[in-house]
Amino acid sequence: MTPTSTPTDLPAPGLPRDGEPLRLMAVHAHPDDESSKGAATMARYVSEGVEVLVVSCTGGELGDVLNPALAHDEQVLANIAEVRRAEMARAAELLGVEHVWLGFHDSGLPEADENGVTPPLPEGCFALLPLDEASAPLVELVRSFRPHVMTTYDENGGYPHPDHIRTHEVSVRAFEAAGDPEQFPGTGDPWQPSKLYYHLTFHKARLVALHEACLAEGMESPFGEWLENWEDKPEDAARLTTSVPCADFFAVRDEALKAHATQVDPDGRWFHLPLEVQQRVWPTEDYQLAITLVPDVRTGDLEDDLFAGVRVSAESVSA
Ligand SMILES: [Zn+2]
Repeated sequence: MTPTSTPTDLPAPGLPRDGEPLRLMAVHAHPDDESSKGAATMARYVSEGVEVLVVSCTGGELGDVLNPALAHDEQVLANIAEVRRAEMARAAELLGVEHVWLGFHDSGLPEADENGVTPPLPEGCFALLPLDEASAPLVELVRSFRPHVMTTYDENGGYPHPDHIRTHEVSVRAFEAAGDPEQFPGTGDPWQPSKLYYHLTFHKARLVALHEACLAEGMESPFGEWLENWEDKPEDAARLTTSVPCADFFAVRDEALKAHATQVDPDGRWFHLPLEVQQRVWPTEDYQLAITLVPDVRTGDLEDDLFAGVRVSAESVSA
C-alpha cells in the first residue's frame, strides 16, 4: 500500500479564491493533544495568516492528573472538566488558534487488572457511539469552517487510546463525506477539503536523533528504553512524506503544552533537552500525507508545506 491515496470518487476540492486565507483544521481527541502533536506547525501557519481551527472531540474528563504538584489538589480533582477547559483556552490563546469542542465523552484508557481483564469502556463514550453519530458534528464543522487541509491521527491512533483511534475514524469519515451533498443532510453546504494528513510525531528517526542528542549533551535520555523496545513495522517506512520546518515555534509549543498544567509535569524529562539542541537536531514536525486531491508539487522526496499543491491550484482558479 502506498502511504498516500488520491480517491477518484471524491468531488473536486474547494480552493481559496482571490486572496482568501488558507484554512487548516486539526482534529484531536483530548485537550493537550493539540499541544503535543503539530503545535509548532500550527503556530507557524498562524504567523503566516493561515486560519487554524483546533477541534477537541472529547473533554478529556477521564485523563489522569500527571503533574505531581496538582495530583493531590482537591479543588482540581473535583473540577477536572472545568480545569481542563480553562487550560485548553489558554493553550489556544498561546498558539493563536481558534478552538471548538465537539462535546463527546472521554472513553478513557482502560487498563487490564491483575487477571489480565480489561474493563469495558463507559457507556455512551466517544469510542462506543455509532460511527456516523460520532462523525456528524465534525462533518457539520468541516462544512462551516471549510478547511483546505485537515490533520488527524493514523489508523493506529498514534498510540492505542480508544479516543485516538475513534478520532482517526471520524476524521476520515468527515473528509470523505463532507463534499457529498447526499451524505449527512441538514449539516450545511458540501465542502471538500484538499488534503488529509496524519501526525507522525514519535517516529523512529526523530527519536534516534533526540536520543543521540541527549547522550551528546551528557544527559540521561528519556528515549533509550523506548527505542530498545521499538518494533520496526515495514508499513511504517513509507509514512514520512512531509516535514514542516517550525523550529522557531518550539518555544510556544512548550508553553502551550505547559498550559495543560494538570496533564504535564513541567519538570518532566521531556523538557530537559534544551530547545536550541532540539531546534538543531530535528527542526521539523512530520506528517504522512494520507489523502490528497491536489497535484503533487514535490521537488525532493519530502514536502515541506501542508498546503503544497493547494497554493498552486488556488492560483490557477484565481487566474
Ligand atoms: Zn489524547
